[in-house]
Amino acid sequence: MADLPIFDDSQVQNVLCVVAHPDDMEYGGSAAAARWVERGASVSYLLLTAGEAGIRDQDPSDVGPLRAQEQRDACAAVGVENLTILDLPDGMLESGLDIRKRIAREIRKIKPDTVVTINWDVMAAWGLNQADHRVAGLATLDAIRDADNPWVFRELMDEENLEPWGVTRLIVSGVEPDYAIELSEANINAAVESLRCHKQYLSALGSHPDPQEMITGMTSEAGQSAGVDHALGIKLYKMR
Ligand SMILES: [Zn+2]
Repeated sequence: MADLPIFDDSQVQNVLCVVAHPDDMEYGGSAAAARWVERGASVSYLLLTAGEAGIRDQDPSDVGPLRAQEQRDACAAVGVENLTILDLPDGMLESGLDIRKRIAREIRKIKPDTVVTINWDVMAAWGLNQADHRVAGLATLDAIRDADNPWVFRELMDEENLEPWGVTRLIVSGVEPDYAIELSEANINAAVESLRCHKQYLSALGSHPDPQEMITGMTSEAGQSAGVDHALGIKLYKMR
């Protein structure tokens, strides 16, 4: 039964996607990025960490640069040209003013109409959510308000000349959806390719499902709920 409304994303022109790790965008989010890039929107990724603590038997000093490269490849697969990776510690993201200010800084620089982030709930579709994801999602929500408030992080204005900026909407992926973003076959293929780019990371995980099956499965399911072939299920929040 098609009961999930399609989100009219014609007003989405400048998008900032904020996630914790390399690969966080690649479980569906990158398919929407591919769609928006194809339509001429500007899409930027902000990763809060380089994911250096993500491979158990490899040293973080090797893994950070490796995963950053895999993310650059993943961005290229969906046509995303603007990637920023902050140096916050993987596995140890802390909620608080520092992380909010760092995200608010990027929001004021990029001036997005739309911010995308990941599920911040304790539970995720795949089980208990990860600590960095919870922190990243909530800090992003807070940073949207911070970026719009001239009296919060005044040094961003005074020292860096970054004026307040109001984001119009927040999109959260990986949650019980209330809208669907319709995706084309080409968007799906690009998203599969982007997930495959995290080659060494995925092989270190061992039992990761095949990217093609995984992305196709996810997006067909959401598509079915929305009455189209493929879609990404999202939660949509109006921010101003
Ligand atoms: Zn992650």
